[in-house]
Amino acid sequence: MRDFSYAGSPAQIVFGAGTRSAVAEWVAKTGRKRALVLSTPHQRADAEALAGEIGPLACGVFTGATMHTPVEVTEAAMKVVAEAGADCVVSLGGGSTTGLGKAIAYRTDLLQIVVPTTYAGSEVTPILGQTEGGRKTTVRDARILPEIVIYDPLLTLGLPVAMSITSGLNAMAHAVEGLYARDRNPISSLMALEGLRAFARSLPVIADDPKNGEARSDALYGAWLCGSVLGTVGMALHHKICHTLGGSFDTPHAETHAVMLPHTAAFNAVAAASELAEAADMFGGSIGGGLWDFAKALGAPLSLREFGLTLADLDRAASLAVENPYWNPRPIDRASIRLLLQHAWEGRRPGD
Ligand code: NAD
Repeated sequence: MRDFSYAGSPAQIVFGAGTRSAVAEWVAKTGRKRALVLSTPHQRADAEALAGEIGPLACGVFTGATMHTPVEVTEAAMKVVAEAGADCVVSLGGGSTTGLGKAIAYRTDLLQIVVPTTYAGSEVTPILGQTEGGRKTTVRDARILPEIVIYDPLLTLGLPVAMSITSGLNAMAHAVEGLYARDRNPISSLMALEGLRAFARSLPVIADDPKNGEARSDALYGAWLCGSVLGTVGMALHHKICHTLGGSFDTPHAETHAVMLPHTAAFNAVAAASELAEAADMFGGSIGGGLWDFAKALGAPLSLREFGLTLADLDRAASLAVENPYWNPRPIDRASIRLLLQHAWEGRRPGD
């Protein structure tokens, strides 16, 4: 057994079909009386319905959440928080809406109840990424970690298949990097492997039968586990490259993770073969090639070229990715990262 240090996350997790109806109960249980429901414009109808279910304990709805948590949107939401006298926020949606709730809590320490509808996992991390003037900064703070998370798989039945697949692969990337994290511990590794198993089982079923309740439940369970890994241990090369591509080239978040994961996993397997062995077994013996086959069978995007990146962009991305690098199990240099990006751009199967 390696030496380790472990801190459990102080969040209340409620999981089950139909648990959305427990939001009002949790608002009351925590002594709150004025819940502001948050969503993106796309999920406005669902947010209004949820506010209706919360009834007299809801004080309004703000539906302006958007990608990358722009500070201007947070400021607009803060005005609504003040005018409505909100004493907690209920974030209904994916990582973008959760990000807005976190940004409000970071500034006010208001209680957050999150009702996730994607597999991004932000709801169980104390991390907030926000943008101002086109610059993204990341903060980690105890106020940012949501206090209550209500996972209701029924809310994910309508998540489009393509988004379900890429969001699932995004979650799996947290688990893969968690397995070789320098600060991993026995619990984070158990969660990572169980999270990967849940997605390995459920995503193929969802691709064929998106309304399959059992598979949706399994995938959301995997999202909780993989997100918890992200919230507990440090991420490495894969997340650094995805943050670089998203931050500097505006590539789509979950899709970028989906394309990069087989390549970064194959790259790091050279230095972390034993840490990745059980995960590799789940995907046919080779973590990079196996994840690529898995993604391909699910119809996920496979190449960076699909996002409109040019070869010149890859040159710049390689330079940026090796600036202030995250710790990584395999040493990196610009040439090897440029080659890795080339393979991901072409959509090649790692190892072929
Ligand atoms: P998203 O929240 O941006 O959602 C994408 C779109 O899908 C939105 O229009 C949303 O309303 C819609 N949508 C969400 N759930 C739906 C459903 N069930 N049915 C139909 N439509 C639905 O996407 P995401 O991938 O969940 O989140 C990405 C963002 O989260 C990124 O900005 C990323 O940086 C952030 N993130 C942060 C952390 C963290 O720990 N801080 C972790 C993961 C992701």
